[in-house]
Amino acid sequence: MADAPPSADPETWFVLRHGEATTSAQAEVAVRYGDAARIARGVGVMALGLALGAACVVVPVLHLITTWALPAGGLALGVYLLNTRSKVAGLRGECPACGEPGRFASASLEGTVEAVCPACFAFVQVTPAALAPDPGDAAPG
Ligand SMILES: [Zn+2]
Repeated sequence: MADAPPSADPETWFVLRHGEATTSAQAEVAVRYGDAARIARGVGVMALGLALGAACVVVPVLHLITTWALPAGGLALGVYLLNTRSKVAGLRGECPACGEPGRFASASLEGTVEAVCPACFAFVQVTPAALAPDPGDAAPG
């Protein structure tokens, strides 16, 4: 079983929303990590931090820091990787608030997150197109 290629198109589309206005944006990268991949990466990084910390015990002076910093850093990064179910990068689209094309820093395949427009600093809700409600369903009030 191979994972779907990261370029799988529908996942790279997002809906940007600000109040009543919506626009669409496309991400350069939208990758989903399966459970096995997350656990392998997270535990691998933790083990690497412990191994490096243990290896540096023999280094004079440096071991005062590396002995705890490397395992602690590996643990923190490992927990982060375990909790990271998807990665989205390079999301570009028109801001629904000001209409300027921009690059939005935060997005997730898991659900709606808030991003800030780099042009007008408005808060914009970023939702994967697959999870966004169909605009045809909403009756105009
Ligand atoms: Zn804007």
